[in-house]
Amino acid sequence: MSKASTVEHRERPLELAEAYGAYPQLWAQRPHWPEALSDDLNLNCSHCRMTKVAESRQASLSVWPRRDWGPFLNSVKCCAHQPHWPNFLIGAAIESSAGEAAILIENLLIRSQLFVWGARPSRERRLAEARSGQCGYGRAAALACPLLSSSGQCSVWQFRPGTCVTYVCQSARGAQGLSAWREYELKLVAWESELAHQLAWQLGYTNDDLAMKLTFTEARDFYLKCHGLLSSGWRPEFEVV
Ligand code: SF4
Ligand code: SF4
Repeated sequence: MSKASTVEHRERPLELAEAYGAYPQLWAQRPHWPEALSDDLNLNCSHCRMTKVAESRQASLSVWPRRDWGPFLNSVKCCAHQPHWPNFLIGAAIESSAGEAAILIENLLIRSQLFVWGARPSRERRLAEARSGQCGYGRAAALACPLLSSSGQCSVWQFRPGTCVTYVCQSARGAQGLSAWREYELKLVAWESELAHQLAWQLGYTNDDLAMKLTFTEARDFYLKCHGLLSSGWRPEFEVV
């Protein structure tokens, strides 16, 4: 997913989500983004094209396929949901954030369901997003991601999860390109989930603990430990996806 005024970040290859820069042992293990789609990395999110989509959806759909219907609100753009967030990325974000970002992270955790693998939106939030559906995506200010800052930027850009890293609203290769991005998203999210679970097991939890809800303090401390373990060079066991 992208966001307001992030064009400067688009100069980096998407797969280089900066959080992974702190974990060089993972670089060879990560699923790699589809390089054939590199033209799609040139999105200028400062001039979001999805805020300009015509209300006449049927007409504009035939011109260029896009991932969501739009038009998006300028204040929300494609940051219109709360992503599931794996433990180690939350820990990295907590450790690196101050000011408004730290407050937004804390508020998000307080309002989320917290597990050893990471955080997911509350049931109410998930239901509201499901009701909104694809047609309503990006069109409700109330469903803006809680991590959007007051200036409309992602406050945890370096630590955003795979769903956000891989969001491309329109592909130069049309529907085929969008499908390829979706495929990559599924791979990256599955990989992050596997990594989050391995961290939990490594730090003493078992499969029986996966559904256990953590308190805010338990979760914050545990997520920091997950980030710390990866930062120490610990290597998970899975191979290249
Ligand atoms: S909808 Fe597209 S152009 Fe707009 S912020 Fe998101 S990725 Fe960028
Ligand atoms: S985490 Fe950041 S990039 Fe992802 S939806 Fe929220 S604000 Fe947007």
